[in-house]
Amino acid sequence: MFPLIAALASTQVVPLWRNAIANGNDAARLRYLPVLHQWVKPSRRLRLCRSCVLSDLETHGTGHWRVVHQVPAIRFCHQHDEVLHDECADCGSAFGGKDKWALPSDPCGHCGSLNSRSSLSPLKSDGYNALADLTVRALNGQAPELEPEIRAALLRHIIQLAQTDAETLLDQFLDWWAVNDLAELKNLLQTTICPKTTTRLFREGNAPVSAQLWMAITAFAWEHTADAGRCALLMHQYPNTRDLFDPSTTPLRGSEFRTELAEIVRRHNLPPELTGLLISGQVRLGHLLAGGANVLMVIDSLSSHALSQLTAHVRLRGGSL
Ligand SMILES: [Zn+2]
Ligand SMILES: [Zn+2]
Repeated sequence: MFPLIAALASTQVVPLWRNAIANGNDAARLRYLPVLHQWVKPSRRLRLCRSCVLSDLETHGTGHWRVVHQVPAIRFCHQHDEVLHDECADCGSAFGGKDKWALPSDPCGHCGSLNSRSSLSPLKSDGYNALADLTVRALNGQAPELEPEIRAALLRHIIQLAQTDAETLLDQFLDWWAVNDLAELKNLLQTTICPKTTTRLFREGNAPVSAQLWMAITAFAWEHTADAGRCALLMHQYPNTRDLFDPSTTPLRGSEFRTELAEIVRRHNLPPELTGLLISGQVRLGHLLAGGANVLMVIDSLSSHALSQLTAHVRLRGGSL
């Protein structure tokens, strides 16, 4: 998992750290990555993708384990889009249990079966897809946004943009992951998550959370940043919050305000496009389409909960209602 952790360290620190490891100092990470509460450890059980094993058998005559499949938060093969298997389908044992040198194409060490199955959640979301993409890039040394200075600047901008409290921003992050609370996210990421520290991270832009959670939050901030803002951040020219806002990214999913808004628009026989315009903060276009009085009426009809969600959402995207 060294490339993953290295991706989370600053470029000056990586060579020092690599030297320390080469000199037998295993605890070096504590000195070089103090902000990480827990780094990425391989998942508790070995994981494989059936299609990867079949293609390995064809090309190499034997299967081999892939590093990216052993990252705890990764549950799908990014090449074949299949959920990863982590146990024998006949006796339920983990792979390589008795014989830790077993290969993925070998029969089960307990019962000799060649069938496997998955005990992992098949739940995918925008959050999962973005994190999976970030993980693959990080393993290839192509995730500069994970560097400490950049990820902190990125997060500060998202916080500034949101103009909302840390709890609301955290809710939006959870919506993006399509989970109800941090406990569910903890199961998906297989990492430790302290609610207090996580909220602090969304308030101050820095806090000692686990590497896996930092990666998920960085993916969230990066996904909601426009290309111009990304370039500026990578060149260490921290841009205006305005430049960072990307109006073209898909809105955060899974919030009730969306359903409620669409229902009100439908009930009053207004053009259905009005919902999308309001959600993306294009109120003036909404006025042109449906009339100013109608737009006001729609906004007034929202429940206070939906209204505060919508306002926070539009602000996160740099607009106003
Ligand atoms: Zn595969
Ligand atoms: Zn078995």
